[in-house]
Amino acid sequence: MSSDGTVGRGSEASPGPPDTATCVGVVELVTEYLEDALEPDVRARFEAHLDDCEECEVYLEQMRATIVAAGRVDVEHVAPATLDRLVAAYRSAVRARRNPGANGV
Ligand SMILES: [Zn+2]
Repeated sequence: MSSDGTVGRGSEASPGPPDTATCVGVVELVTEYLEDALEPDVRARFEAHLDDCEECEVYLEQMRATIVAAGRVDVEHVAPATLDRLVAAYRSAVRARRNPGANGV
């Protein structure tokens, strides 16, 4: 058969895409990290990634400031949809930081 639709995008010209999977993991774990609720294992990897990823470090600082301002973390009230939005917002923030010139409409 000659109908293979497996190749969606064959022309990816990204020079060096960030490890978004790991960054998404950081976004999802950040509240637990700030509550000191992570396994030592996970926490170590989390911090290792922060060491490596400036964007996540900034994100963590922003989350910490938000939580300090709010007084507490409502982890149980964070719906998956909210996490989705956080990740989306986070991604566009990273893009904006990487393309300061692409600010026009
Ligand atoms: Zn990251």
